[in-house]
Amino acid sequence: MGCNPRYEVLFEPVRIGPVTAPNRFYQVPHASGMTNARPRTRAAFREMKAEGGWGVVCTGAVSIDPSSDDAPLPFATMWDKNDIRAHALMTEAVHRHGALAGVELWHGGASVMNRASRLPPISPSGIPWMATHVGFMGNLRPKTMDRSDIRDVLRWQAEGARKARSAGFDIVYVYAGMGYLGYEFLLPEYNHRTDEYGGSIENRVRFVREMIEVTKDAVGASCGVALRVSLEELRGRPGRNQPSEAHELIELLADIPDLFDVKMDSSPTDCSASRFSGEGSHEPVIDFVKTLTRKPVVGVGRFTSPDTMVSQIRRGVLDLIGGARPSIADPFLPAKIREGREAEIRECIGCNICISSWHDGVPVRCTQNPTAGEEWRRGWHPERIEQTSRPERILVVGGGPAGLECALTLGRRGHQVTLADSARAFGGRLAFERTLPGLSAWNRVVDYRLGRLSEMSNVSLHLESRLGADDIIELGPDRVVLATGARWTNMLYSPMEIPVGRLDHSQAFTPDDIANGRLPEGPTLVFDFDNYYMGGVLAEHLAAQGIAVSYATPAGQASAWTIMTNELPLVHRALSKRQVQVMTLTTLKAFDGEAATLSHLFTGEESRVPCRSVLIVGLRVPRGELFDALMARAEDLDAAGIRSVDRIGDALAPGAIVHAVHSGHRLGRELGTVMSEQPFRRDTPIVDAETNFEMNAAAK
Ligand code: ADP
Ligand code: SF4
Repeated sequence: MGCNPRYEVLFEPVRIGPVTAPNRFYQVPHASGMTNARPRTRAAFREMKAEGGWGVVCTGAVSIDPSSDDAPLPFATMWDKNDIRAHALMTEAVHRHGALAGVELWHGGASVMNRASRLPPISPSGIPWMATHVGFMGNLRPKTMDRSDIRDVLRWQAEGARKARSAGFDIVYVYAGMGYLGYEFLLPEYNHRTDEYGGSIENRVRFVREMIEVTKDAVGASCGVALRVSLEELRGRPGRNQPSEAHELIELLADIPDLFDVKMDSSPTDCSASRFSGEGSHEPVIDFVKTLTRKPVVGVGRFTSPDTMVSQIRRGVLDLIGGARPSIADPFLPAKIREGREAEIRECIGCNICISSWHDGVPVRCTQNPTAGEEWRRGWHPERIEQTSRPERILVVGGGPAGLECALTLGRRGHQVTLADSARAFGGRLAFERTLPGLSAWNRVVDYRLGRLSEMSNVSLHLESRLGADDIIELGPDRVVLATGARWTNMLYSPMEIPVGRLDHSQAFTPDDIANGRLPEGPTLVFDFDNYYMGGVLAEHLAAQGIAVSYATPAGQASAWTIMTNELPLVHRALSKRQVQVMTLTTLKAFDGEAATLSHLFTGEESRVPCRSVLIVGLRVPRGELFDALMARAEDLDAAGIRSVDRIGDALAPGAIVHAVHSGHRLGRELGTVMSEQPFRRDTPIVDAETNFEMNAAAK
């Protein structure tokens, strides 16, 4: 099948200064958590997107000087020759597929704490970013930049650009977004200067303009120079001769960079979760940019629909379709559109687990694409898989995320797969969770896999098929995979921060009860020590049905772990909108049908909250009965010719959907193969390109 003529516009080349992007698919810079410490992992991760048809593939933020040090958060560097070599692996890999390679040169200004380099952070006026989340907090306030500091940064940028060119990059960025140094000059809250760099918008833009100019002087003859700028705050400020300061900024810089990469100001709005916003959510902020410049414009919006992409081009919003998350979830998104295979796109679900990986300081993980980050170390390709030479009959029990992914992977390898589930529909936990407020897009995990499975002649799908040990032994497959999931418990929580005891009461509920259609009566207390989305979203769900809900958690915030996925502020807003009272640092001690006895996590001080029901969102444990029953019948398994019984996903170790999908994929790849002793290859930094190498020598 060829490309739908409607989508051909997406495959037109676009000039970016002296270079030309082969099409409009532009993987904007995004964090990968790989850094220069894992150069091969990074090169392979980025290469996959070039192979999948992205015309431009950028690396994440790259520090231009040790005064921009985000440790312990992962960040890359362009400081010395080793760095150049490390990045060159990526540019060579991207060029192999005809794509352009871009680099986001970066100085963090006041937002970095320089914990490792111990240099003072720098900022236009010494105004710090006073983050609320402990992971971003620091005790060192930035130094106010004097003129020589400004000159230094301009020099580092030019040197960084030359090093980037030596590393083979085609597009070099000036970064003025997301709270970092360039942005700090643009915003009056950060910039209190009274010299020519502060005050009017013309003055506040000056530093960014000079950054672009020095970059162009350094590499502009051979590289495209891009400006990445956040416009959300500035769009909200009236301009003097334009509707907003964002308009004035674009007008002032209209002819200077070769490309505008436009975005929002903070991670929760820039990279918003699907729970709270849909595809194309940046448009109201960035829609005007193309009216003020003739230079190409790229922007993002979690675009996975080719019709939306075409609409952005046709309506003059964007020239290049930016993608970060959609390119992680499906590196082959452009190729699938080009080949008329849109139905096969593995659409990003907007869960932001990828972002949590960066907050965790590890290489990127993705719920939809289990091969993300595994390209080099495990050799996994998102679209190709080694065929088995010995097809076997494999029974997968349980069709949730783990079972679906495992059945799909085994089917792609050429096995005869039977997938059975006791429920009326496939999807496991998602059959219920997709009905909760904001979570409908998460069902793409099921839709993508069921779509592919239903096309495979070697896979048979069976619903309403509850299987016990007798049934399985009677079926006698070669192998059995159990993906039977987990169940929520009514366990409570101790001041030692571990689950203890149980709350047995007819009006004590777990999420499984709600999933089974049993609703609590009267005012309900949600007690959440799971800390991810479930407690918060169920509080919303119950409140939406007219139940008076209060919410208690031993953590410091509601759904505390959602700080990792950019959702936390919006969870609090959603609960407040539903008038859910939130009590933090609180544990549930007892419940008598009239009131819950709560206790402060640290002081032990007790209080009573009147309520008729409690919903405990706490510990999950595997549904292990079937596995135990099969293990007790080793001789019968032998006699039936069953060679192995494996567990995957929540049935093995309860986790988030991302864990279940990865677990199902891994077993799907490895089942029946000989595994080496080491489960994956270990990457190493490139070191000692030259001993006693001068930091900036490469720029000369
Ligand atoms: P995971 O996240 O690990 O995929 P889920 O809880 O989402 O786990 O899915 C588990 C699935 O297994 C559910 O759809 C459930 O109906 C199914 N299941 C559990 N036990 C059996 C069984 N004995 N026979 C068939 N299906 C089962
Ligand atoms: Fe999309 Fe979630 Fe994958 Fe991130 S982890 S790319 S949000 S599906």
